[in-house]
Amino acid sequence: MSGALRMRKGLDDVPAYKQGRPASVLEGEESFKISSNENPYPPLPAVVDAVAATLTGMNRYPEFAATALTARVAARFDVAPENIVFGAGSVEVVSQLIRATSAPGNEVVFAWRSFEAYPMLVRTAGAVPVEVPLNADHGHDLDAMLTAVTERTSLIMVCNPNNPTGTTVGAEELTAFLDAVPAHVTVLLDEAYVHFNRRPDTAVGIAAFRAHPNVVVAHTFSKAYGLAGMRVGYAIAPALLVAAMRKMAIPFGVTTPAQIAALASLEAEDELQVRVDALIGERERIVAALSAQGWQLPETETNFLWFPLGDDTTAALEVFEAHGLSVRGFAGEGLRATIAETQANNRLLDTAAELVSRGLTGGCTVAAAS
Ligand SMILES: *Cc1c(COP(=O)(O)O)cnc(C)c1O
Repeated sequence: MSGALRMRKGLDDVPAYKQGRPASVLEGEESFKISSNENPYPPLPAVVDAVAATLTGMNRYPEFAATALTARVAARFDVAPENIVFGAGSVEVVSQLIRATSAPGNEVVFAWRSFEAYPMLVRTAGAVPVEVPLNADHGHDLDAMLTAVTERTSLIMVCNPNNPTGTTVGAEELTAFLDAVPAHVTVLLDEAYVHFNRRPDTAVGIAAFRAHPNVVVAHTFSKAYGLAGMRVGYAIAPALLVAAMRKMAIPFGVTTPAQIAALASLEAEDELQVRVDALIGERERIVAALSAQGWQLPETETNFLWFPLGDDTTAALEVFEAHGLSVRGFAGEGLRATIAETQANNRLLDTAAELVSRGLTGGCTVAAAS
């Protein structure tokens, strides 16, 4: 009888979120899930201990305002606590922002392809996603995004670095863009991969927040801090917007273990930085090895690589599977592979070499340099 249930209008326009596939099982071989940009390191013992100590209190609700964590993040960025809002992952923070700024009748502008959650979250708010194609270098086309702004535009989302292409927006470029955006339109800088971004002249969210009254920055503990399973992220935003976003938050969405894990991670930032540095080192090793194989890929400032394989994508996915690697594929466009443990990274290089020898490169290679 479910056909008789009254469902919301426009539901069919909402794409469902597809989780990165688990690693395929290979006979007698370890396989790796490199499809979700997770951190390959297990949590720090200090973080596990701090979380374990909270578990006997699970009969109580968490503190909704996350006071201690908010104070800590506010101090770290030298902003007021009124400028910080938490959510169950930065995905929930982005959702709060979309629903605080946008409703039916509004348009939300973002680059495409970008983070898969964007179109889904915009649609569930009843607003219309306006997807502006990436430029030829797989980066944001900020001029085209500006042109896409209409009187219905409520929010623009800039993913820096961009998921899934790994590309960055420059500081100068962003400043010129922000100067041109109408003052009543909010601009989100989604910096989920900020810790991996080593571009010297990159746009920096917190600097843009200080310079422009309509800028919001989103950060997450899921990637560099390795807390993807805990669900905690935050935004730095103008106080008025923070108050509005809190209204849109799911009450008690950030659990006590999540708050404590985030606090313990901020205490251990130096130790976590060593891991981030190691992952960046692995990224540099892989990028160099791929380029020796002849690959010409978009420059990445993240913990993943984008292979724009076009029509070769589906066949290439099978080659990755056969090597025990599950990656994130978008048929007809390309696939994204996470920089992970060394063994998985070496497997990635073997797979890429096989793609070259089988001609499944989507035109992304030149004759090998050897
Ligand atoms: C992973 C990711 C997020 C946040 O993930 P959460 O786990 O919800 O904090 C946000 N934006 C982008 C672009 C991401 O890739």
